[in-house]
Amino acid sequence: MDKLIYRFNNQGSQSSFNSKNILGGKGANLAQMAKLGLPVPPGFTISTKVCEDFYKNNKKISKKIFQQVKKEIKIIEKISKKKFGDLSNPLLVSVRSGSKVSMPGMMDTILNLGLNDKTVIALKNKTSNGRFAKDSYRRLIQMYSNVVLGIESYFFEELIDNYKLTKGVIQDTELEEDDWDGLINNFKEVVKEKTRKNFPQDVNEQLQGAISAVFSSWNSKRAKTYRRINSIPDHWGTAVNIQTMVFGNMGDDCATGVAFTRNPSTGKKEVFGEYLINAQGEDVVAGTRTPKNLLSMNKSMSKIFQQLKKIFNLLENKYKDMQDIEFTVENNQLWMLQTRSGKRTARAAIKIAVDMVQEKLISSKEAVLRVDPNILDTLLHPTLDEKAEKKIIASGLPASPGAASGKVTFSTDEAERLKEQQQNAILVRVETSPEDINGMHAASGILTARGGMTSHAAVIARGMGKPCVSGSSEIKIDYENKLFKSGNYVIKAGEIITIDGGSGKVMLGKVPTVKPDMSGDFSKIMTWADKYRKLKVRTNSETPADTKIAREFGAEGIGLCRTEHMFFDEKRIISVRQMILSKTLEDRKKALAKLLPYQRNDFIEIFKIMNGLPVTVRLLDPPLHEFLPKTDKDIEDIAKELNISNQNIKSRIIELHEQNPMLGHRGCRLGISFPEIYQMQCQAIFEALAECKKKKIKPVIPEIMIPLVSTASEIKILRSLVKKTAEEIKKIHSIKIKYYVGTMIELPRAALRAKDIAKYADFFSFGTNDLTQTTFGISRDDSGKFLNDYVENNIFYEDPFVSIDERGVGELIKIATERGRMQKKSLKLGICGEHGGDPASIEFCEKAKLNYVSCSPYRVPIARLAAAQAYLKKKK
Ligand code: PEP
Ligand code: MG
Repeated sequence: MDKLIYRFNNQGSQSSFNSKNILGGKGANLAQMAKLGLPVPPGFTISTKVCEDFYKNNKKISKKIFQQVKKEIKIIEKISKKKFGDLSNPLLVSVRSGSKVSMPGMMDTILNLGLNDKTVIALKNKTSNGRFAKDSYRRLIQMYSNVVLGIESYFFEELIDNYKLTKGVIQDTELEEDDWDGLINNFKEVVKEKTRKNFPQDVNEQLQGAISAVFSSWNSKRAKTYRRINSIPDHWGTAVNIQTMVFGNMGDDCATGVAFTRNPSTGKKEVFGEYLINAQGEDVVAGTRTPKNLLSMNKSMSKIFQQLKKIFNLLENKYKDMQDIEFTVENNQLWMLQTRSGKRTARAAIKIAVDMVQEKLISSKEAVLRVDPNILDTLLHPTLDEKAEKKIIASGLPASPGAASGKVTFSTDEAERLKEQQQNAILVRVETSPEDINGMHAASGILTARGGMTSHAAVIARGMGKPCVSGSSEIKIDYENKLFKSGNYVIKAGEIITIDGGSGKVMLGKVPTVKPDMSGDFSKIMTWADKYRKLKVRTNSETPADTKIAREFGAEGIGLCRTEHMFFDEKRIISVRQMILSKTLEDRKKALAKLLPYQRNDFIEIFKIMNGLPVTVRLLDPPLHEFLPKTDKDIEDIAKELNISNQNIKSRIIELHEQNPMLGHRGCRLGISFPEIYQMQCQAIFEALAECKKKKIKPVIPEIMIPLVSTASEIKILRSLVKKTAEEIKKIHSIKIKYYVGTMIELPRAALRAKDIAKYADFFSFGTNDLTQTTFGISRDDSGKFLNDYVENNIFYEDPFVSIDERGVGELIKIATERGRMQKKSLKLGICGEHGGDPASIEFCEKAKLNYVSCSPYRVPIARLAAAQAYLKKKK
């Protein structure tokens, strides 16, 4: 039979059993501290296995288990020389939850268990402190009634508040023993009234009730929500820790405190903590009294302080990580109540990891594994000054991190105009479309009322490294009157707001920000990460500015250059529109000829920055109608410019309309229908190479990528088009040209037919945005409306547009990888969907044996670190 109860090791009778799965984090660490010889109040842990049985057994604790619990209590009695329920020297215990990972405040705890009308008198006599004894008893009645009997806390709080009001006092500490006596009677009446039973005087009944309640709290609403948000499996269950109570509130030789072994905010190695003399743990946390800096304990309780410092070192040496500690001093005796890895800021996480390598506590590999890649985000962008005052007026999704302030503007043109005047703008739109790209570029930040984490605004903003809050449904935009409303606030165009894309908050006025610093420890961690990773990290980028940033962040190539973004530039959109509106091949070619020099220059600029690194250029992908004018005014402007009638444009717009544009005339289908478009783009790429050669710029080997392929024939045809163009340029410029042709794998059919497709492809790049969309048949633009329901109903654990769906989309990637490489061993494989910057998806890419991931510039450092962790975890 499985062992179900584990005694802390200070009794010396147990083996050094220590597993978080069975004992939970708190239990395992208490056992570990006891084993190290530290002063831990005697106790034991009821394992998570019992929690599992509890739920199988209709939420009942079996008699057998309770017999074992009673046996363990006897052992504690022996050590502490106290007795549970005794009338002269009563043992009191705490009953606390503790799951495998910490779920702070999500489950229940009961303190002072073992007190009743009689033992409280014994406690009073024993401690000669009636006030303390009665205060402890009323705390038990309050906690027990709430946690075990389900009586709302406010019934008791109200009684205390009213009593204090009548007595004319403010603090609980001002209440005397008699006052608590009266309140205890009132509390017991509440219990009688609400449960029709007396508050249990039988200490074993109390114990049994408390254990059941703690197990039950594993499935409380808040615990379930916390687990869902933090991806903690429901089946883990919680352990229950039963431990002798120690008191920090029995006089001036008592204290209680919390401490970190290093500064959790800066990472500096220094004593950091707070304590209160003559207080209980909750007094430190509740903020009713202002705790003192732990350093001052060196004066008030110097022996204990020195003992604590030694313990800090011991624990750090044992756990090899910064610890978060709770302790109590009872009559000059120090007791350790908890230790766990401390939560810390991103900056502290990095400093602590690097310092611990220097202190030879951990290896550089371990240091790389210590830093959560997701938190790097907060270090790469300017962030809000923590100390600044903030007036929050709305909130939405944290779509792209960083903070920005600027004048509210509702139009792309206005954002550009403000930029010209060197003013910051926040572009506020119901949602954005490709047309807004210039405005988004010009703005300092983007706020949308609609759209999820993979909406157009979110994807583009992340690509640009611009802060973005999307899907802020509280804001109601009135374009006509140039204002938006949020609750009682009315914000007009030109007013200044601040958005924080890291938290999704929108604030009134300008909130000061602080700049990122990526030198020192940050760069050290990144150097180690680069040493340990196998996956290459590229970037998705199409502008020189973004490409430069990506290079600074360590991108090793461009994995996706979306050429359509280049088409929206103000100077060229007219030629793009002319090309689309052309009815004849000749007219189309004329328009394309105007675009050619622009495209060529784009590529020259990018090749220059990439300095010999690979560049994947994707040929035109989106449906053509995305480039068409949308408003009457735009139509009129274009009609004038092109010298054709408004009607002519309108009818062409109707012709190009598609019911389902994402599955329509887009991607390589455009290249098949209008080869001249792809021909012009290839010409621009090859001419750019020729130009670079002339200018002695280090040659780039372009990787020309064909989007939305589903059959081998498509790529076969388009590959020969690329070849033909290359041959022509070679001849004209008398140069050698090296290039690759490959395809995106973003349709399930392409994944399945990868073997045929690989015949004509030098590389595959998984376009997981479209691949997720087409595998699930869920529109990437509209999924926001119901994805939450899916996550809440446990249909999806995570948004599949954020973290790769390994079982479906992942399976297709594995199939395509295997079949593609079966055809061509040298086939290069990468991923360029949004998942390329998501640590969990990167771990999958490592397992799937891809060659590289490609992500937006600001995610490059995150991907470098995640790739190293993925490799190190695989090796473990
Ligand atoms: C994709 O579909 O994953 C991709 C990278 O292409 P886009 O997002 O441009 O459709
Ligand atoms: Mg795509």
